[in-house]
Amino acid sequence: MELKDRVALVTGGSRGIGLSISRALAEAGARVIVIGRDGERAAAEAATLPGGGHIGLGCDVADPAQATETVRTAEEAAGPISILVNNAGITRDNILLRLKDEDWDEVMAVNLKGAFNMTRALTRGMMKLRDGVILNITSVVGISGNAGQSNYAASKAGLIGFTRSVARELASRNVRCNAIAPGYIETDMTGALDEKQTQTLKERIPLGRLGTPEDVAALVRFLAGPSAGYITGQVFTVDGGMVI
Ligand code: NDP
Repeated sequence: MELKDRVALVTGGSRGIGLSISRALAEAGARVIVIGRDGERAAAEAATLPGGGHIGLGCDVADPAQATETVRTAEEAAGPISILVNNAGITRDNILLRLKDEDWDEVMAVNLKGAFNMTRALTRGMMKLRDGVILNITSVVGISGNAGQSNYAASKAGLIGFTRSVARELASRNVRCNAIAPGYIETDMTGALDEKQTQTLKERIPLGRLGTPEDVAALVRFLAGPSAGYITGQVFTVDGGMVI
């Protein structure tokens, strides 16, 4: 129960990797605020987490006003938030020549500006507490690049620069900021693969299997806790060795 008495906010906490992260933080004793655009779903999933007092709220992280308002509502209900996981993310994949303006803008607005909106809304509180953890869920494609994902890869690479800058800026207030770069994790985002596609993918992964949301959540739990108290500004890959 290393996160007992702490309040954590997880964006995109209502499905996939974010839901596993919410569960792992709740298992560690934190009170969790689950965020998704679909507030009913977020509330329903919050109610299934272990321990009590978890809350689900509807919020589009791309909208700065909604981000500020959501943080206010959450802190009124649950107290000061000292752990933020910027996990909400979307894809709008296409080859460069077919990528539309809105595909570029939407991905940037959610994946990169969304993280900025939530981090800015929570920074003052964390600085006052002199205690905070910010974890940004980026992607291995933000490091390696990927054909057909130039918008997504750019947003995830941007998140790495954001992570390192925030880490430098807030370290003197005991606020740590790290990034986690998952490889191929089985969720709604990656969709169902047929047997042949799964086999091809597995051959590219030294550990020989696709990742699970729990593989990512375990690292989030560690980085959010006191055992990671001397770690900031880093990017951790969780990909079964795919981009060694
Ligand atoms: P899912 O599509 O399964 O879930 C996305 C979550 O984000 C949902 O809870 C969704 O809820 C929420 N969300 C989406 N848009 C917004 C928004 N504008 N505001 C608030 N919440 C939003 O995604 P994954 O679990 O697969 O991915 C989670 C993160 O991990 C993403 O950042 C993704 O880029 C990253 N990642 C995933 C990998 C994978 O293989 N799955 C690999 C590498 C990185 P709602 O629909 O209600 O808004």
